[in-house]
Amino acid sequence: MVRKVGTNGEKAKLAFYWAASCGGCEIAILDTDEAVLEITKRADIVFWPFGIDTKYHQLEAMPDKSIDVVFYNGAIRNSEALHIAKVLRKKAKILVAFGTCANLGGVPSLANFHNRQDIFERVYYTTPSTHNEENVTPQPRYQTDEGEVEIPEFFETVYPLDMVVPVDYYIPGCPPPTKWIVQAALTFLNGELPPKGHVFAENFALCKECPREKEMKHKVKQFRRVYEADHIDPNKCLLDQGIICLGPATRAGCEARCLAANFPCRGCYGPAPNVRDMGAKMISVLGSLIDSKDPEEIDHIIESMPDIAGTIYEFGLARSILFRRRFNNGNK
Ligand code: SF4
Ligand code: SF4
Repeated sequence: MVRKVGTNGEKAKLAFYWAASCGGCEIAILDTDEAVLEITKRADIVFWPFGIDTKYHQLEAMPDKSIDVVFYNGAIRNSEALHIAKVLRKKAKILVAFGTCANLGGVPSLANFHNRQDIFERVYYTTPSTHNEENVTPQPRYQTDEGEVEIPEFFETVYPLDMVVPVDYYIPGCPPPTKWIVQAALTFLNGELPPKGHVFAENFALCKECPREKEMKHKVKQFRRVYEADHIDPNKCLLDQGIICLGPATRAGCEARCLAANFPCRGCYGPAPNVRDMGAKMISVLGSLIDSKDPEEIDHIIESMPDIAGTIYEFGLARSILFRRRFNNGNK
């Protein structure tokens, strides 16, 4: 258990890491503003590649269980992220999946609709800006005159953190809001540990937190993207206006930030309690909204849902029942 800080004058030890991450979760830590002063008064940061000059060999030399809390953000996409996840698990008393990518795979896990070969072909051969006459793709090991160069191996599949190491707590959000970061950090520093597996967010679906008036009846003749709508009523439920919003399937805790900007929820907080699969839940919700009994018209309404798989699994494909696409050629 993490020690209660301040009782013996010793500061706690914290670490932060980023794997397949956009950097937003790191900025969220800086965005805690003056709260970070309270946290650093009570804790030292002993490893944080984004913020301070700490090296992997220094981390590897630390005794096991010598770091009180590790906040790990980003998905597992390559061998470096996996290796550091395993090292940090050994060094940490508490390991926290921090942010949507570590919790669910996040946007990086949309790559699970493809395989490594597809991705390399697109990125290294066919993008309009690529000039690669020799068709070079990254090799994990390469011999040069100066010696062997080694780079991380790019995995076929993207994983959330708890699929590769045991995780103690979860802070979702893309990125997590200050309120929950500070609450989690102070909870740990006070030694008031919730049950393992606790999610620092609300325990109900986002629609309950969203102030928009909702009917959610069979009333949609056509689904639209935000930019296709002539007018969006800022007080009415977006689903009732034919705009796909993942609120019914998503855990609350973000204070409906996207809805306040007239933008639909994309599910970054992960499944609401009792929702096993966000996509399956949303298919059921969307089906119940369709205002037709005519098969042809229903087909037409379904066709108006753009990139439905990418929409309902935008943040959580690696956490879903689907997990990834299967390929006929035997590749995962
Ligand atoms: S579906 Fe979206 S807009 Fe409608 S109540 Fe739920 S969160 Fe709000
Ligand atoms: S509204 Fe949805 S997508 Fe936006 S921050 Fe909240 S959970 Fe994330």
